[in-house]
Amino acid sequence: MPDHVPTDFREHEPAVSPTDTFAVVRSEDGRWYTVTGPCPTCRATVVFRVAYGVLGPPKRLLGGGRRTPEPLTGSIPVYCQCGYPHAEKPPESPDSGCGAFWEVPVPPPAPGTTT
Ligand SMILES: [Zn+2]
Ligand SMILES: [Zn+2]
Repeated sequence: MPDHVPTDFREHEPAVSPTDTFAVVRSEDGRWYTVTGPCPTCRATVVFRVAYGVLGPPKRLLGGGRRTPEPLTGSIPVYCQCGYPHAEKPPESPDSGCGAFWEVPVPPPAPGTTT
């Protein structure tokens, strides 16, 4: 695992190396996706959680208990949240990383898998 690279902060979309792999884990109730992998720019391991199914249009609740959202398809926009200091970061920036953002493809759901 390479060390963290203290690049200057810059909002940019880096190319993701094909050798970098990202774990996309869907929560049990289908409402969260956790993406874990190396930042393509600063090489820190980024754990990125996205809410899914809770920010969409309100669903009609007609009894029958909780419904699990359909599995996400496509890709998840991720941005670096390494937490390391990066020079040139504007103080007003809400980012806690190097400014990199990229998209992680969501693997197709594996039927019957419960991990
Ligand atoms: Zn960083
Ligand atoms: Zn980064």
